[in-house]
Amino acid sequence: MSRKPIFAANWKMNKGPSETEDFVKSFLSKVQLQNLNCDVVIAPPFVSLAKLTEALHNHHGIQIAAQNCSQFDSGAYTGEVSVLMLREFFTHYVILGHSERRAIFGETDAVINAKIKKAREANLKPIFCIGETLAEREAGNLETVLRTQVNAGLEGVSEKDLGDIVIAYEPVWAIGTGVTATSEQAQEAHAFVRSLIADLYGPDAAAKIRIQYGGSVKPNNAAELMACPDIDGALIGGAALDPQSFLDIIRNGTAAE
Ligand code: PEP
Repeated sequence: MSRKPIFAANWKMNKGPSETEDFVKSFLSKVQLQNLNCDVVIAPPFVSLAKLTEALHNHHGIQIAAQNCSQFDSGAYTGEVSVLMLREFFTHYVILGHSERRAIFGETDAVINAKIKKAREANLKPIFCIGETLAEREAGNLETVLRTQVNAGLEGVSEKDLGDIVIAYEPVWAIGTGVTATSEQAQEAHAFVRSLIADLYGPDAAAKIRIQYGGSVKPNNAAELMACPDIDGALIGGAALDPQSFLDIIRNGTAAE
């Protein structure tokens, strides 16, 4: 089963509209997108979505993601952004369940599940993040944590909708720390996540779903990670803030696939 790799930049709370425009100009000047045999996604802050849409107007090779969405449709939810609002910016993907949303903003598996379903109602493709903390790994709870997050996050999600979901395995101890999981650790976790999908949806769905690795991916470690059979691309934070570094990750990573 060949799965198209997907490389997504998660800019977090970085780059307002003018820096977004600068990034896109620089990135597009370096690359012929049609020559990249992968999906490329950029997730800017909400306020930069309009500028990203405008800056990419003729470049269909890059897809746009939001970093979050509301589980509600509309109404008295101060500070929230609905899936229908995101659709107006030609947003394709939405990152959900990121460990920063779980740890800092208290998002539970149930909230993440509600957001995944709401995103699918609007035909947004969730990038569904899961991953264990260092304490959980060291206590031998890796599989329990991943099983709980996958089962709860996908509760009630149909097999059809699963086809439009990407999973991002992001060990929390590797995010923004400069410490990357070894390719053996990453492959082992990815294979386990794929087995969880097989348990829930069967072997065909498991063979099709794309599972990205995230956690201190850099140009110099992308090839080794992406060469692993169950790793189908990367979700990249810090190293995707610079156009050349993001591009080098994509090039090194796709050469390895
Ligand atoms: C992330 O925030 O999803 C991430 C993987 O960050 P970094 O690449 O900086 O570790």
